[in-house]
Amino acid sequence: MMDNLLVYVLLLSGIAIGWLLGYRFAKGGKKAKAPDWIPSVEFLLAEANDASLERLLNVPQLDDDAIDLFLKLGRTLREKGEADRAVHLHQSLFARTGLPKNTQMILELELAIDYSYAGLLDRAERLFLELLNTRGRIFEQSSHYLVELYEEEGEWGKILTLYRDKKLASGAALERRVAQAACELAELATASGDYYETQKLCRQALKIDSRCARAYVVQGDMAHSQKEDREAIRCYLKAVEVDTQSVVVVLDRMTESFHSVGDIDGLISHLDKHWQGSHYVPALTARTECVAEKEGPEAAVTSLLQELSVAPSNQGFFALVELVVKYRLQLDKSQLLVLYDILRRIVEHEPKFICGACGFKAKEFHWRCPSCKDWSTLRSYMPQLTPGNLEL
Ligand SMILES: [Zn+2]
Repeated sequence: MMDNLLVYVLLLSGIAIGWLLGYRFAKGGKKAKAPDWIPSVEFLLAEANDASLERLLNVPQLDDDAIDLFLKLGRTLREKGEADRAVHLHQSLFARTGLPKNTQMILELELAIDYSYAGLLDRAERLFLELLNTRGRIFEQSSHYLVELYEEEGEWGKILTLYRDKKLASGAALERRVAQAACELAELATASGDYYETQKLCRQALKIDSRCARAYVVQGDMAHSQKEDREAIRCYLKAVEVDTQSVVVVLDRMTESFHSVGDIDGLISHLDKHWQGSHYVPALTARTECVAEKEGPEAAVTSLLQELSVAPSNQGFFALVELVVKYRLQLDKSQLLVLYDILRRIVEHEPKFICGACGFKAKEFHWRCPSCKDWSTLRSYMPQLTPGNLEL
């Protein structure tokens, strides 16, 4: 029943598109009122099959509304995972003669995107490269998609070459990605011991994107591996300066380098700054270890408690307990009260319940899960501990 209805609607729309075009032609190209009987994309998708698509594609002439509908249909097919049908649709339209130049370029772009979705990367690459000779939005989109395709393939050199040859669209977002491609190549150069090339690529990355923290990290790692600790420290600090979060990747090696040059005061002051900037607990832990080393464990506990009462965390609490056990410390009454307050605030923020159906974690009990809307699925939450954790 639905099939018959669909065929009827599709046929009717096909005939009507042709009729409308003829009508417009007869009227000397005057813009007619938009037809309201063209089937919606949703309707076509819900019921369309290859035969009905073919019927639609065979409409003798296409106007802007029909092209628009086809483009929407093609994109939706692709996003639904039916890239081969989208390819067929775009190819058939692309093969038509008499379409405006801009429409042809849009179709070529859509086809290239279909190819990359379908895993036909060589074909996609060829079309995207061709489209780099266009202008405007199509040029920008082609640059974006081509860089993404090369990223997926790990073709970092091709990205950099396109950039050097000024083939890519400009813009901060794309430049950030080109700089990352240079960093990928720099890491490969480091791995093969080519320090000259590493340095060259890192400088390029920074020239393209002066806020590329990763380029400083790669430079720092290279210096660190060559025991040039002062240079390593300089690069790591620069990385953290442009992106606070880089402390996560440089912390261990940076701490090592500071120790190698014997600058514990410098290390403590930088770790303090990184902890305040990123609230990355390992930075706090490393700082606490330095304070314990330099000023004694009691001073370390005092300052750690102070920091944890500002930013309580399980990881920080764990570091405190480790410190107490390691140095066999006794906490006094006021320290215990601070500790109690820290723990209370950690526990307050912990989820107490978990939905057995969808895994949603909640702090309060609900009869109906706020996430999956199922009833009576909430159970009390227990963190999943591995045997390794339990041994402690
Ligand atoms: Zn649920």
